[in-house]
Amino acid sequence: MTMSCDHPDLLPLDEALRRLWEALPAPSLSEVRAKRDDPATDRASMDGVALRASEGRIPRRILGTLFAGEDPTGFTVVPGTAVRIMTGAAMPPGADAVVPVEQLLTSGITTSPLVDPSPGDHVSVRGCLARAGDLLLAEGTPINAARVALLAQEGHAIQTCPRIRVGVASTGDELVQNPLPHQLRDSNGPMLFALARTLGAEAELRAPLPDDPIALATALRAPGDIRILLTSGGVSMGDHDHLPAVLKELGATILFHRIRLKPGKPMLAALLGELLVLGLPGNPVSAYLNALLFLSQALARLEGRIAPDPWCKGRLTAAVKYKGDRPLLHPCRLVGGRLEPLPGKGSADLVTLAKADAFAWIEPGGLEAGAKTRWLPVL
Ligand code: AMP
Ligand code: MG
Repeated sequence: MTMSCDHPDLLPLDEALRRLWEALPAPSLSEVRAKRDDPATDRASMDGVALRASEGRIPRRILGTLFAGEDPTGFTVVPGTAVRIMTGAAMPPGADAVVPVEQLLTSGITTSPLVDPSPGDHVSVRGCLARAGDLLLAEGTPINAARVALLAQEGHAIQTCPRIRVGVASTGDELVQNPLPHQLRDSNGPMLFALARTLGAEAELRAPLPDDPIALATALRAPGDIRILLTSGGVSMGDHDHLPAVLKELGATILFHRIRLKPGKPMLAALLGELLVLGLPGNPVSAYLNALLFLSQALARLEGRIAPDPWCKGRLTAAVKYKGDRPLLHPCRLVGGRLEPLPGKGSADLVTLAKADAFAWIEPGGLEAGAKTRWLPVL
């Protein structure tokens, strides 16, 4: 692991993401076993005719049509006959193969295969996917949308992946609705609310909290019906950055505080009981980037998804000079699939944030024009 020379305590980004992942529980299922064979009977897997393969290409008389969901015993395929059959319909007694529509010559009630059928052609055989009693989902398997299909098929109560409720609260005495020159409007709160919604969470935007340990502690003690609290501000080294101490005072487990990233160094993550607190830095570009990375990671875990890889790969159209010792996320525009660096003015620069399509990962030392790097799409 490469350590920065003047910030040996800073956690590399990927390590912080891994810690967050491992600290959170994935929703899991109890054991599910097949209640019957899957499929429960032989079924057509193509639209065509069900027939006896051994009769080869001879013309057959069509007895009728079977649709998915119909009882097939109304027909018996005897020599010289066939039944039109739709995908998913149960095979009629006597038939052992399906010849697809594309491989038939049909005229009135007579149809002739243009190919030599073999037994089992285009038939999904009873039990070929699972046998009654087979283990379909082991105890503790994380739930995901794909697995809901098996729950539904087996007649279990449908558990959907929960929509995670996220509260958003900025911190800072400077945040007011009608700012004087020394004050600001809360831009992080609405931005993080919008991002949480974009990432699929149910978000709730709260009023900014003051830089007061008692007010912070009160808000954290009674967070309301949320699984994640996104705060911004108050996690840095200033005299009014109370959040880390307040969380410790309340007995929270600090997962990490301060990461090796520019912008976004003061990032904090903590568990207060079941509540995940993502303490984002106050500067808007830092807050945005850290929320993009850490909130998507937390949501994926809590929803039972696999760990997301938010990174794309691309080349820079121009060099990015960089002398810092932490990896830098640099704003870029996407031009023809390549990253055109923007002249960003740092972590408070909302104007450039609004112009950016992407943030390119720049290792200490900078990158040359044409260099390939990973980048985050701006959502
Ligand atoms: P902090 O991390 O609290 O020291 O904040 C760092 C910088 O971000 C300061 O300049 C704050 O005024 C600014 N800032 C903090 N929170 C917000 C917010 N919700 N909206 C806009 N700017 C903010
Ligand atoms: Mg502050």
